[in-house]
Amino acid sequence: MSTYDDASEPARALLASFDELQLAEMLAAASARIHRIRDLHRNEYETCSECTRNDGVPYPCPTIRALDKEQR
Ligand SMILES: [Zn+2]
Repeated sequence: MSTYDDASEPARALLASFDELQLAEMLAAASARIHRIRDLHRNEYETCSECTRNDGVPYPCPTIRALDKEQR
């Protein structure tokens, strides 16, 4: 069972309209965005390097927890 199997009919129609190269480019762009976010939100001494200002924000911060949350 893949995510595709769970997709609604409109979602499948949308996917069918993309060719594989477009999908690969979209995936690469999304992965690069996530990588840039993770570069900002690094674990430094158990606090988030981006979210922490004067108040310590424990690592993982809400941003990283959102990225790590499993898709359902
Ligand atoms: Zn953060």
